[in-house]
Amino acid sequence: MTTGGADRPGHAGGDGEGDDAAEIESGRVSRPRALMREGGCACGAVRFRLRIGEGAIVDVCHCRQCRKASGAPLVAWVQVAPEDFTVTEGTPAAFASSAEGRRHFCAACGSPLFMTDIDGRSVGVMAGALDEAGDLDPVAEGWITQKLPLVGRIGHLPAFETDPPHDRHEPADEGADGAVGARCAAQTSGG
Ligand SMILES: [Zn+2]
Ligand SMILES: [Zn+2]
Repeated sequence: MTTGGADRPGHAGGDGEGDDAAEIESGRVSRPRALMREGGCACGAVRFRLRIGEGAIVDVCHCRQCRKASGAPLVAWVQVAPEDFTVTEGTPAAFASSAEGRRHFCAACGSPLFMTDIDGRSVGVMAGALDEAGDLDPVAEGWITQKLPLVGRIGHLPAFETDPPHDRHEPADEGADGAVGARCAAQTSGG
């Protein structure tokens, strides 16, 4: 069983005080201006908007709860204040993943989307659900005690611009960019 501490959207809901060293140590990094971002699930039924401003935190979690809830080996989070997050379309479903944590997802396609806590301290948005995430800069990774070894292999493997050859259903030389695979089709540009 994972402790409650593994399943909180985080540390973004503090009082905003403290000196620079403490802020850096806590992962709280000031940003010169807020970023407005949109995102949503894979089928498009649920859409949301968030403001990534001062006090927002981008971090990565390796905990088992995040892995199970996402089906991914790790989760990158954008943690914002509740007032900086709005569901703009659809009604996500949710389940209690711990005494404090609520994980919200699209009931139609199953995409995990964001996480809240019962105290309303912060909203943790899954970075992978954002339409654009290419410029997000994580400041910390948590729960490395539960980190999967395969995560450390990433960046050191044979790498391909699209599907690797073993996933391609057609000859690899079809198409100038080699994008002939069928497993993972690019849906949108950006992050
Ligand atoms: Zn959906
Ligand atoms: Zn986690």
